[in-house]
Amino acid sequence: MEITLVEGDITTQRVDAIVNAANSSLLGGGGVDGAIHRRGGPAILEECRALRASRYGKGLPTGQAVATTAGKLPARWVIHTVGPVWSATEDRSALLRDCYANSLRVADELGAATVAFPLVSAGIYGWPVEDAVRQALGVLGAATPARVTEARLVLFGAETLRVAERVRAG
Ligand code: ADP
Repeated sequence: MEITLVEGDITTQRVDAIVNAANSSLLGGGGVDGAIHRRGGPAILEECRALRASRYGKGLPTGQAVATTAGKLPARWVIHTVGPVWSATEDRSALLRDCYANSLRVADELGAATVAFPLVSAGIYGWPVEDAVRQALGVLGAATPARVTEARLVLFGAETLRVAERVRAG
């Protein structure tokens, strides 16, 4: 699987699946989540509500991932995952890695060839950008999915892309 780093808005990516940094309610929020629901239209929220009414009555647990339609977005699926909130006193990085591993697994099961990821937890949830990139590249770099051929990390803003490129270069 090839890993690409691009600067941009995840909602405009022409890939099979985009990952949403959702919150456990699955009922919308700010950041990437807000942008995806705004541009994807109400079909995404309808499926999220159905998931809450069936499999995830208490919400989607942190680190897990579940797919819905992508509505009006160019992608075919949105894979919702819930990142951990950053903590300076507790190491929650295993949960952050779970987000990438589980989202990639769901994408692979769906038959997606190309998947775009935002920098999960690195916005409202406060995760330091450099470490968020390190966790993402660690999981994606070790993954050997059957069908996914490209994992695209979509960095929001030129500075975030620069940080990501620096982390990747080591
Ligand atoms: P979280 O609550 O998991 O921190 P956020 O959506 O607040 O999720 O932020 C995750 C990352 O996504 C941050 O780096 C943020 O700058 C970035 N981001 C925000 N909007 C978009 C977008 N439309 N496309 C790609 N990345 C985005």
